[in-house]
Amino acid sequence: MADPWQECMDYAVVLARKAGDIIRGALKEEISVMTKSSPVDLVTETDQKVENFIISLIKEKYPSHSFIGEESVAAGEGSILTANPTWIIDPIDGTTNFVHRFDSSFMLTN
Ligand SMILES: [Mg+2]
Repeated sequence: MADPWQECMDYAVVLARKAGDIIRGALKEEISVMTKSSPVDLVTETDQKVENFIISLIKEKYPSHSFIGEESVAAGEGSILTANPTWIIDPIDGTTNFVHRFDSSFMLTN
């Protein structure tokens, strides 16, 4: 019998690669920047798009699982951690670097 946690970890890697494709694609276009809690707390349409994309794919595969997403919480959703399997999602780790295209790791290939 397959280990369900390993299966989730493997799926997380698949999702990260798909998210990377979206992020790399966004770097070729103009980046739309908004602020959250302060002028230096940035969020982009790509953060939101990637988070929604990841959550939708996880919901298809694991409909009973829960989510805490950085951008959803910033938009007012609760961040309640329970005993239910929960995915913690940070769609772009380093939005400021993404906005300024500082981090060359965004350009890594699969
Ligand atoms: Mg982030």
